[in-house]
Amino acid sequence: MPTMRLEIVTAERVVFSDDVDLVVAPGIEGELGILPHHAPLLTILQPGEIRVVKAGQEQFLAVSGGFLEVLANKVTILADACEYAEEIDLERARRAMERAQQALATRQADVDLAQAMAALRRAQVRIAVARRRRAGGGPPPGAPLPGAGP
Ligand code: ATP
Repeated sequence: MPTMRLEIVTAERVVFSDDVDLVVAPGIEGELGILPHHAPLLTILQPGEIRVVKAGQEQFLAVSGGFLEVLANKVTILADACEYAEEIDLERARRAMERAQQALATRQADVDLAQAMAALRRAQVRIAVARRRRAGGGPPPGAPLPGAGP
């Protein structure tokens, strides 16, 4: 079965480097599924889940944004931040979510709303992806994020 190379890199570390069968990533215009020998592509990523399949095994990662390039059967993701589901500190993400929710609720003059919205989104994604590491695999794709809605 054909494979492709996947490299996920942040400013801090190489997160992932291996041959894989499928990558699903949160493109700015929606979820992107990439199979081997995909046409060249360059796109922005939004905060969300990356799903990687290799030999029938799935891995889930949280990404907080960045760029994705497909070129010559290689997928390169330059991520702002990226963690495996197993690496995510759920308590930290919950605290970050609460801080952001409070900042948005109080709307004081010194609160940067765009920053608080982005922090909320990162935390929600981390919480959703962290749930993937438990048996059963967490919420289905497209399920509402934790803390979303009224
Ligand atoms: P916090 O307010 O908790 O720092 P943040 O959204 O501001 O969250 P980022 O700026 O996106 O954090 O990330 C900073 C670094 O911390 C990155 O290396 C990222 O991978 C890591 N990180 C952030 N939150 C978590 C978490 N809940 N579990 C594990 N690593 C995390």
